[in-house]
Amino acid sequence: MIDFTLPPELAELRDRARAFVENEVIPQEPFVDDHDGLPQDRLDALRARARSAGIYAPHVPKEWGGLGLNMREMSIVFEEAGRSLIGPLALNCAAPDEGNMHLLAVVGTAAQQEQYLRPLVEGRVRSSFSMTEPPRRRLRPLDAAHPRRAARRRLGHQRRQVVHQRGRRLRLHDLHGRHRRADRRARRRDDVPGRRRQPRLPHRPADPLLDAGFAGGHCEVEFRDCAVGQDAVLGAVGEGFKYAQVRLAPARLTHCMRWLGVAARALDIAATYANGRAGFGKPLGQHQMVQQMIADSAMELHASRLMIWHAAWVIDGGGQARQETSMAKTYVSEAVDRVVDRALQITGSHGVSNELPLASFYRNVRPFRIYDGPSEVHRMVIAQRILREAAAKPAAGIAPTTPEVAEVTTPIERPNVASTMVD
Ligand SMILES: Cc1cc2nc3c(=O)[nH]c(=O)nc-3n(C[C@H](O)[C@H](O)[C@H](O)COP(=O)(O)OP(=O)(O)OC[C@H]3O[C@@H](n4cnc5c(N)ncnc54)[C@H](O)[C@@H]3O)c2cc1C
Repeated sequence: MIDFTLPPELAELRDRARAFVENEVIPQEPFVDDHDGLPQDRLDALRARARSAGIYAPHVPKEWGGLGLNMREMSIVFEEAGRSLIGPLALNCAAPDEGNMHLLAVVGTAAQQEQYLRPLVEGRVRSSFSMTEPPRRRLRPLDAAHPRRAARRRLGHQRRQVVHQRGRRLRLHDLHGRHRRADRRARRRDDVPGRRRQPRLPHRPADPLLDAGFAGGHCEVEFRDCAVGQDAVLGAVGEGFKYAQVRLAPARLTHCMRWLGVAARALDIAATYANGRAGFGKPLGQHQMVQQMIADSAMELHASRLMIWHAAWVIDGGGQARQETSMAKTYVSEAVDRVVDRALQITGSHGVSNELPLASFYRNVRPFRIYDGPSEVHRMVIAQRILREAAAKPAAGIAPTTPEVAEVTTPIERPNVASTMVD
C-alpha cells in the first residue's frame, strides 16, 4: 500500500529546515544584489549556521559531510529550502552545484572527488554544467543526445555558451560534448591552472536577464582550444551521454522540488494578503474569483508535489525515471509559474512592487519552463515514448472488431524515434 506518512525523523528535519528558512534565510533576502546575489560574507555566515542546524548539503553522501538523503527525503527538505530563492544556496543544494556534486559522487575517481567535490561541498567554489550552445550561423537541430554535430565543428576552434552561474568563484566546468578524436573526451573537467594547453575561459556578465538576481546571475563562457589532462576527464570516454543521464533526471526533479517551495510560499503570501485586505465591502478572500485562484493554486501545488514524490520514489528504487521526471518537470514548471502569477494578481500593486518577494519570484520562476529542456521538447519526448510503446503493442486498448478497425490500428511503419535527451 502507498503510505504518505513521513517518518518522525524526516518530519523533524522538515520542521528544522522550515524554521531555518523562516528565521535565518528570509531575513537575508533584502541584502540580495540584482547581479551578484547574496554577498559572500553573508552567504558564508548562513552556511555556517545551516551546518550548526544540521541541514547543510542534504543531498551529499555522509562521508563527504552531507546528510546523505535519498530522493524522497530530499524532496521534503528541498521544498523547504526553496521557500526562499537563497535558501538552496544557504543549504548548498542550489543548481547546478547540487547536480554536479551528485555526478562527481557517482562517477568521479577518488582523486577527482578530492579535487573537485570537496571544495564544492565545502562551499568554497561554484560549478557549471555546460551542455547547450547558442545557435550559430545556420539552423541546426538542438538535440542534446547528439552534441557531436555541434562539437565536431566547433571544438578546437571556438565554443560559446551561455551558462548560468556567476563568474566569481566559478572554478569547475562540466562540459558535455563529443570530439572527433578518441583522445578528446566526451566529458571534460577544467580546473583552469596548470594545464598543458590552457583553455581560455573568459567570464563576463551576460546581458541583463529576466532572472539576473538568482544565485548571483549568469555569465557567458567561451571555450577556445579547450583541452585538459587525462586526470580531468570524468568517467570513461564515450560514456558522456550515460553520465548526463545520471545527472539530468535527478537534477530535473530537484529543480522541481526547489521551485515548488517558492510557489508554496507565494500561495501563503497571497492567502495572507487576501485575508487582510478588504475590497468592495469584504476581505478579498471572500470574493469567489479570488477563492478560485487560491483553490486552483492549491490543487496544482498538490499535484506537483505528488508527481515529484512519485518520480523520486522511482529513482530511489533504482529506476532512471526519465518519463516520470520529464512529466514532472513539464507539469511543475508550468504549474509553479501559474501559482506565482496568481499570487501576483491577488496581491495587486503590492505584488508588483518590491514590498513583497513575488515580483522576484515571478522573474525567477519563468525560465524554468525553458532550461532543463523546454516544455515543448519534454512533451515531444513524453509522446514519443508513448507512441513507441503503442507501436510495440499493436491495437493496444482497441479490440479489432472489424477489418476497418484492424487496418487503422496496425502501425503504418514503426516510428523512427531517436533516443532524445533534454538538458
Ligand atoms: C536560466 C537558464 C539556465 C540555464 N542553465 C543551463 C545549464 O546549466 N547548462 C546548460 O548546458 N544549459 C543551460 N541553459 C540553457 C537551456 O538548457 C536552453 O536555453 C534550453 O535548452 C533551450 O535552448 P535554447 O535556449 O537554445 O532555445 P532553442 O533551442 O532555440 O528553443 C527555443 C524554443 O523553441 C521551442 N522548441 C525547441 N525545440 C522544440 C521542439 N523540438 N519542438 C517544439 N518546440 C521546440 C521551445 O519553445 C524553446 O523554448 C540555461 C538556460 C536558462 C534560461
